[in-house]
Amino acid sequence: MTQLIEMTDIRKVFYADEVETHALAGIHLSIDAGEYVAISGPSGCGKSTLLSLIGLLDAPTDGRYRLNGVSVEDINASQRARIRNKEIGFIFQAFNLIGDLNVLENVELPLTYRDGVSKSERRERAMEALKRVGMAHRIRHFPSQLSGGQQQRVAVARALVGEPSVLLADEPTGNLDSKNGEAVMALLAELHAGGVTICMVTHDPRYADFADRQVFVFDGQIVDEETLHKLRQEEEQRLEEQIGQARA
Ligand code: ADP
Ligand code: MG
Repeated sequence: MTQLIEMTDIRKVFYADEVETHALAGIHLSIDAGEYVAISGPSGCGKSTLLSLIGLLDAPTDGRYRLNGVSVEDINASQRARIRNKEIGFIFQAFNLIGDLNVLENVELPLTYRDGVSKSERRERAMEALKRVGMAHRIRHFPSQLSGGQQQRVAVARALVGEPSVLLADEPTGNLDSKNGEAVMALLAELHAGGVTICMVTHDPRYADFADRQVFVFDGQIVDEETLHKLRQEEEQRLEEQIGQARA
């Protein structure tokens, strides 16, 4: 297996209103090509920040990151965008389709940022991606005319049309009812069986079971499952004590 993602001691500090937030506090993470990894952990622990760094939407404050063999921690924003367009497919909780564009146009869009892809090739590849997710019968529909589950399928097609090295998913079922959520999970499992590398953030343990491997984050660091339970219990205890003190 080739190592696709290799993060060493990655840190991310946000500065807002003179407050420093250490969102990631020394992340070590490796993902091989072909793996399906699920990331979970409490709200605010740094999951989305981690995914956005993996996906080159943002740069780390410190640490080393090799993506597909290339060091990407110190590159500038335009290099980051170029590599992102080539290597990364992203899906989000809110689908993030463009409302003014129909299904086919939404899926073609990433290819318009690529050199040397003709209009007919763009169309062909978008149709191919839409077939893969079972949405080829809805190409003239607009996002508002689709169910949430269908919109997420289209978003998956858009993420895959450029044949990225990895599909990143940030709580992809967060806006879906359980039936549609399960359908999207089944789709991701099918894509993974076909060779797609997936890294997904989810807070739903049922969905994490679809992955080959689970990664737990707590306070900006990766911890093992046992440690996570211990830290959670300690946190709950502290909270109960605080509530008790407030009552007293
Ligand atoms: P999660 O996805 O696990 O809920 P996030 O990665 O969104 O957590 O956030 C981790 C921490 O970083 C939180 O304390 C959050 O408030 C903070 N944070 C995230 N993004 C920003 C930002 N752009 N500016 C300032 N703080 C941020
Ligand atoms: Mg999040």
